[in-house]
Amino acid sequence: MNEHYQHRARKRFGQNFLHDAGIIDRILRAIHAKAGEHLLEIGPGQGALTEGLLGSGAQLDVVELDKDLVPILQHKFAGRDNFRLHQGDALKFDFNTLGVPPRSLKVVGNLPYNISTPLIFHLLAHAGLIRDMHFMLQKEVVERMAAGPGGGDWGRLSIMVQYHCRVEHLFNVGPGAFNPPPKVDSAIVRLVPHEVLPHPAKDPALLERVVREAFNQRRKTLRNTLKGLLDSQAIEAAGVDGSLRPEQLDLAAFVRLADQLAARQD
Ligand code: SAM
Repeated sequence: MNEHYQHRARKRFGQNFLHDAGIIDRILRAIHAKAGEHLLEIGPGQGALTEGLLGSGAQLDVVELDKDLVPILQHKFAGRDNFRLHQGDALKFDFNTLGVPPRSLKVVGNLPYNISTPLIFHLLAHAGLIRDMHFMLQKEVVERMAAGPGGGDWGRLSIMVQYHCRVEHLFNVGPGAFNPPPKVDSAIVRLVPHEVLPHPAKDPALLERVVREAFNQRRKTLRNTLKGLLDSQAIEAAGVDGSLRPEQLDLAAFVRLADQLAARQD
């Protein structure tokens, strides 16, 4: 690259650029993009993954917040007819504007860790458009997404992600793969939205509410934490033991609690 376009990584944009060719290749193989597909890359940075994604022949839209990276990305990729750059905040990006058919969009990104959870919730709201997602995230976040009930990692993130998607923790990546190296370990996760939801809630917004309320004080019993939403009778009607703590319940039980709340609000 021309030195004229050198860029200093910015902390406030969560910029840790991948430079390990072996890791980049492993990520690209996991994504497995093909001509005829439509990809969305969030936070392309200086294009570490972008190059290989474009090489697949797939249509690639990228959303980058940092205005200073725009000329770098333009310089590198503007000549490719399968490349389209959107400068802006991925948290506010309207995925419907891409005009993709249902269940077709492949979303990828080495995400800025400071916004990864809200970004994933934003994407889950458009799960119907998405075929799969591959993200680099903080390792602990991937562990929480992939966790099962019964342990400390099981919580709001695990439940809401698993409501919509199958989760695969693919592999871990050490700080040395990035420039500058982050202070935490990272991991690649694959999220595949369910074609048919295994535990559909009558109202997913109420599921969010119940889960949020339950895990607000994860050491307390459900009877206590859900007091403002459901009485003991409603908890029992959901087939749930109110003396349990939230981390002991599986997704299906949370959906039954949310459906009790929906029934009582009708
Ligand atoms: N993909 C590049 C790589 O792997 O080297 C860069 C990854 S870096 C961890 C995260 C990227 O996301 C940065 O380029 C940063 O500017 C961008 N970014 C940060 N916040 C963003 C947001 N809200 N919307 C879109 N991009 C954002």
